[in-house]
Amino acid sequence: MTDPLGIDAAPKYKRAIAAITDAPVKYVVYSHYHWDRVAGAEVFLRDGAEVIAQESCAERFSVNPNPDVVTPDITFETDYVVKVGDQQLGLNYFGPSHSDCMTVFTVEKQGLMQIVDLVNPPAAAFPENPTIPYIRPHNLREFFQRTIEFAAERNIDTVVASRVMPDAASGAGSSATGPVSLVNDQAAFWNAIFEQSSSVRAAGGVGIDGLVRLEYVDLDQFDDYAGYRKEDLPSIMRRVFSYYDMGR
Ligand SMILES: [Zn+2]
Repeated sequence: MTDPLGIDAAPKYKRAIAAITDAPVKYVVYSHYHWDRVAGAEVFLRDGAEVIAQESCAERFSVNPNPDVVTPDITFETDYVVKVGDQQLGLNYFGPSHSDCMTVFTVEKQGLMQIVDLVNPPAAAFPENPTIPYIRPHNLREFFQRTIEFAAERNIDTVVASRVMPDAASGAGSSATGPVSLVNDQAAFWNAIFEQSSSVRAAGGVGIDGLVRLEYVDLDQFDDYAGYRKEDLPSIMRRVFSYYDMGR
């Protein structure tokens, strides 16, 4: 299983798995280090499960420990295949993106890919948190490029959701899967953010506070993204400037 989701959710997750199989969970795989995804694995260890994560996640847990997060037993650098019976889950690291150990999951036999938190059906989206502290903007384009190429090589056609969309409380707009083209759509969103950040700054549209003036921004290219909030664009672009100017 992947991402135990927290100390409250993990026991429920375990019961839900027990409802469909008597087999114990052998491996708990982390998508990245954020606590909202990976706390709670303890409940699976009692049955002998081992925890797997990309090696930079393990480094992060050692400098920033959380008693609710189990540190990994098995780490990998660029790729790893988890095998259980005749099933295989591919773990692929394409460099920093959403955190510095974000791992893309694939089930090639079924053409499935999951990019936790970054790409979520049914639509490419605006980031929920405008300060995007969890994003490494200057690595995102390479990450998406590599992910898109990998998906094409391996005939991946479907993206699996990792969360309910922010405006899907009613159930409408929420979806478990979507076409792999959503990866391209999400990449296009970030490309537009980078390009607008540069062109607005070149045009003198950034104040001494480091915030873009919205009248300089070509807003039309953003308003179709799920969860669009134009008032968040200055904070998002400020984060991009910070990364390019200061490396942080
Ligand atoms: Zn995250």
